Parts: sequence; C-alpha cells; structure tokens
Amino acid sequence: MKVGVLALQGDVREHMAALTACGINPVEVRRPSELASVDALILPGGESTTIAQLSEIFGLFQPIRDRISAGMPVYGSCAGMILLADSILDAKDGQKTFGGLDITVRRNAFGRQVDSFENDIVFKDGSDDLVHAVFIRAPWVERIGSEIQVLAAVDSHPVAVRSESLFATSFHPELTGDHRIHRYFIDEVARPALEKVK
Ligand code: GLN
Repeated sequence: MKVGVLALQGDVREHMAALTACGINPVEVRRPSELASVDALILPGGESTTIAQLSEIFGLFQPIRDRISAGMPVYGSCAGMILLADSILDAKDGQKTFGGLDITVRRNAFGRQVDSFENDIVFKDGSDDLVHAVFIRAPWVERIGSEIQVLAAVDSHPVAVRSESLFATSFHPELTGDHRIHRYFIDEVARPALEKVK
C-alpha cells in the first residue's frame, strides 16, 4: 500500500516517521502527480487554514476532494481533522475544508480552556486500551452525522471519529512514539477500504 503525507505545512516529518515505523514506505505529497500515485493519505497537524490555502496554490485542493469522493482512505490529525470536517465552527473568514466526514468541529475548542494538554484516553478499537493523547490547540467534534462512529472522547466531546474510509483524531499520535493509531488507520481503515474497491 502506498501512503502519502500531505507535505505543505505541519508535522509532516513525524507522520512520515510513524508510517515508516509501521513498515510503510511513505511518500511526501506536494504535487497532483504525487497525490495520484498514493492509495491513502494522511493530513498532518499544523494550521488548517494554511494547509487549505497552500493546497489551492499547489493545485491539490480539488484533486484531494475528488479522491476523497472516490473513496481514498484518509487520516487527519488535529488540523487534518478540521480539513476532513464538512463544517467548522470558529472558522477563519472564508476557511474551506476538503470535507468528506459528516461532522462539525469547533476549531481551537480546548484552546479556550488550556492551549495544550495530555490525557490518557480509551481508544475504542475493540481492545479499549489507553492511548496517551497530546492535544495542541485542538478541535473537538460538536456534531456527528448518523454514519459517524466515535472512537474516543474527552469530557463527552468526540476526539476520534471514523466513517468508512475516513478517520480523524483531535490529538497527535505522531508525537508520542506510540504507533497504534497509525496501525489502526493502515490495518482497520485503509486496507479494508482498498480491498473493497479492488
Ligand atoms: N488550531 C489548529 C487549526 O485550527 C490545529 C492545531 C494542530 O493541528 N495542532 O488549524
């Protein structure tokens, strides 16, 4: 499986390292031709408005939307979750997202309480193991559509969600050296989705 990391801004290197640790040989995606070469994509943490604007400048915005509509598996962490959300609260004026996940997220939601914090949370992937989650000016999910599965929550706010081939977390597993979340994306989200379209 060829997995790309959208490499316009944000913590690209950390996602590349996490994928490498999972036995994947990842590709940095900056051009439409690189996007076309990957089976699945990671949208990193960073700044969602900057990533969206750079995607337009680099001619990737519409191609990414089209791939999402065509069923490409995508994992978004933090800013990446915002970019996958169909709608945003506290968005910057005119802020656009790729969309695809039927959720509404609130940008910098935890940021109004504390800018950054860490928490052990239950990740409901069947094992109910604790995951150490790092939140940095993180969004939370305020509305979920009927097809959305909630995999983790903090104070009843969903912070990990999934719908078919799209998966998003408010937190940054790429920063902790624990690769279970990336493995979950590869083994439980991307691989089954790609098998289906074969
Ligand atoms: N607050 C950032 C945004 O709205 C996301 C923060 C992050 O990715 N750590 O884009």
